[in-house]
Amino acid sequence: MEIRSGLHRIECPIGERYVAIYVVVGSKSILIVDTGFDDSIRTTVANYFKSNNLSLSKVGYVINTHSDYDHTGGNRAVRELMPNALICAGERDRPMIESLDRMFYDRYNEFEKEHGFAESMAAKDFMMSVAFESNIDIGFSGNERIDLGDRYVEILHTPGHSWGHVSVLDEKTNAVIIGDAVLGNSVLLANGDPAFPPTYRFVEAYRSTIRLLKGYQPSEILTSHYPRYVEQAAIDFLDLSLNYTDLIEKICLEVISTAKKPIGMMELIESAHERMGPWPDPAYKYLAYPVLGHLEILLGYKKIKASKDENGLIKYQLAV
Ligand SMILES: [Zn+2]
Repeated sequence: MEIRSGLHRIECPIGERYVAIYVVVGSKSILIVDTGFDDSIRTTVANYFKSNNLSLSKVGYVINTHSDYDHTGGNRAVRELMPNALICAGERDRPMIESLDRMFYDRYNEFEKEHGFAESMAAKDFMMSVAFESNIDIGFSGNERIDLGDRYVEILHTPGHSWGHVSVLDEKTNAVIIGDAVLGNSVLLANGDPAFPPTYRFVEAYRSTIRLLKGYQPSEILTSHYPRYVEQAAIDFLDLSLNYTDLIEKICLEVISTAKKPIGMMELIESAHERMGPWPDPAYKYLAYPVLGHLEILLGYKKIKASKDENGLIKYQLAV
């Protein structure tokens, strides 16, 4: 639907969830934020353009907010259906967006060797059946400004969920399209129920992104998997997200302090997930992303120390 003048939000179904794709329309050029799954572009977005008299050949820019396949899976369809589109992403996410194989092994499977939490090959097969990669034309570092004709957008570097995550500020409305840059206290299903934990990974970058977005005093925050957060609701969502990081860090330190022996990351999650959120098995295991992020912070500040067991798995204990 057209939520503001020339700013559209298209909810594309992905299983029990949706990914919201945004369209910003200028007098010369159209910009799209995120590409969903292959079918999101070929069916949902293509149909939406048709019924709203928007031209696919006017699309000049397609931005991937970050390297997750529910945000980049339609990139090949963009190449086929939008011949004038430049595909753009944060430079640090480029390698994983250009290669789904790399996305799978470097991002989704980073916990296998040292933490014993592996993605299944069925998950990889599914990804490969709904997402198709393309090269990236432009790698952003942040603060670029794009002229769409009587309308400018600004690219913000908003790391945390990934290192290269970018958001798009629409100067005309002061709405910020943030993809998954900020994730509240749970990712949601389409019906609003909790789906899985907020999968931020780089904690200090994530906290700094939340503070940065707050500083823009956005008229609204437009995410990929949540309803619109307008005015005060946007600030509340940012505050909730920031407070959640403090809660998780506190719980991690408490569990390590009270453990009788050095404890692995997945053991920590098993014993504490009910205090972190309401997710069922196996969804709660994706706490691996934020929990590892917080363990890295606690290690950095030398509040805890790490060692490896005979299987090469990392165990954590208090530093004193
Ligand atoms: Zn997402």
